[in-house]
Parts: sequence; C-alpha cells; structure tokens
Amino acid sequence: MATPRTALIIGASRGLGLGLVKQLRANGWQVTATVRDPQRAEALRQVPGVAIETLDIDDGSALQVLAGRLEGQVFDLLLVNAGIMGPADQSPAAVKAEALGQLFMTNALAPIRLAERLVGQVRPRTGVLAFMSSVLGSVACPEGNDKSLYKASKAALNSLTHSFFVEQLQDSGLTVLSLHPGWVKTDMGGDQAPLEIEPSCHGLVQQLERHAGLGGHRFIDYQGQTIAW
Ligand code: NAP
Repeated sequence: MATPRTALIIGASRGLGLGLVKQLRANGWQVTATVRDPQRAEALRQVPGVAIETLDIDDGSALQVLAGRLEGQVFDLLLVNAGIMGPADQSPAAVKAEALGQLFMTNALAPIRLAERLVGQVRPRTGVLAFMSSVLGSVACPEGNDKSLYKASKAALNSLTHSFFVEQLQDSGLTVLSLHPGWVKTDMGGDQAPLEIEPSCHGLVQQLERHAGLGGHRFIDYQGQTIAW
C-alpha cells in the first residue's frame, strides 16, 4: 500500500479549514490540523483520524511550541487557511490603528512567518505550500470595495508570498499556491454566498493534488482558473 500523503492545515475549527480537513481525509490523506482554541474544536474532533494541535497564528511563541511538537515530521502539503474579515467599517478614515494592525498581522504577516518557520518540513520538490487568499486580493478585482481593508490584507499576503517565493523557494521545486475558494457560505462568507463548503473544498483539494510537483507560484481559484495579481 502506498504511504498516505500528509497535510498540515492551519485554522481548521470551522468553515473552509474544517471542510478541507474532511475532504483531505476522504481522499486518504493523513492530516494534522490546528485550532486556536481547543474548547472550540468539537466539529474537528468529529472527523476521524485527525491529529489536532493548538495555534493562534499571531502568537510567535505558540508557533515555536508547535514547531517543536512537529519536529521531524514531513508534510506534502502545508496550507495556511486562518483569516479574518477585520472591522465592520472598512473605510480608511474610520479604522483604528490597532484593528488595522490586527487584520494585517493575521491575514498577511503571520501566515508568512509561519511558512518561513515550517517550510523546511514541506517535502522537497513535490511538496505544496498554500495560502488561503481571495480574488478580492487581486488589485484588478472591481468587487467588494466595501471591504477595502480586507482586500488590501489579501493583496499584501499575495505580495509577501511572492517575495518569500522569490527570495527563498524559487530553486526548491516546491509549488506555492495562493488560493481563492470561491464565495462560500461560511461565517465569513455569509448566507448570500452562492457556493457551499463541500464543492469549494472538493475543488481546492483537486487543485492542491494536481499542482504537486509543478513548481512556481500561482494564484488560482478552486476550479484551477488563474487569477490576475
Ligand atoms: P471563517 O468561517 O470565519 O473561519 C475562519 C477560520 O480562521 C476559523 O477556523 C478561525 O478560528 C481561524 N482563525 C482566525 N484567526 C485566527 C488566528 N489568529 N489564529 C488561528 N486561527 C484563526 O472563514 P472562512 O470563510 O472559512 O475563511 C477561511 C479562509 O478563506 C480565510 O482566510 C478567508 O479570508 C478565506 N476566504 C473565504 C471566502 C469565503 O467566501 N468564505 C472567500 C475568499 C477567501 P476560530 O474558530 O478560532 O475563530
């Protein structure tokens, strides 16, 4: 029997992170998944065979602890899913520095810090490092301008990902993906979203599996369509 592929999913208590864990398990992957609060890991505990770890992605010392616990493990996939929408009023005039800092820390900086810390454990050449971005992070995207700060945080994530790729990963053969899941019914996506979690995650996992070994840094959606930066 072939050795199962291994994944580390960051931010899997609910929504797309939880959906990705379910889909990866259904496809036979071995999964380690993190939650920021173990008290709110009930839904994830219902998925059989998942190793659950704790991480608030903004917390550098918690990242060190996690890295220590995972030492020696190799992952075919490292996917940073955790993200927030930020303040309700997203006008640059209204936002307080603290709320802006929180948004950019969680959505843009912390995912890259985590990737820098753990990328050595992504399988050389065939491994995939993925970030949950959004089409709203495309500077060319005309939608969602009432969420301008969230949009900017995902554009920043894409930019930091590209710098990280060019500076450190270009010659490694690893594939780096900035992903758009579609507009999905989750706590963040809301009830109006046209797409359910299951088809989005089915598509995302298909793309993650297809792109292994291809190398490069791409910005794609859950159906594999390329998105303009
Ligand atoms: P969600 O239902 O609000 O779930 C967000 C997840 O991120 C939760 O598991 C949450 O954990 C975790 N998280 C937030 N801050 C964290 C932190 N500091 N440390 C660790 N985990 C943290 O949102 P979702 O719709 O599933 O979104 C998942 C990702 O997809 C996000 O990056 C989002 O920007 C992106 N996205 C979503 C859509 C959409 O339509 N839904 C579209 C494009 C992109 P807790 O349970 O502890 O809060």
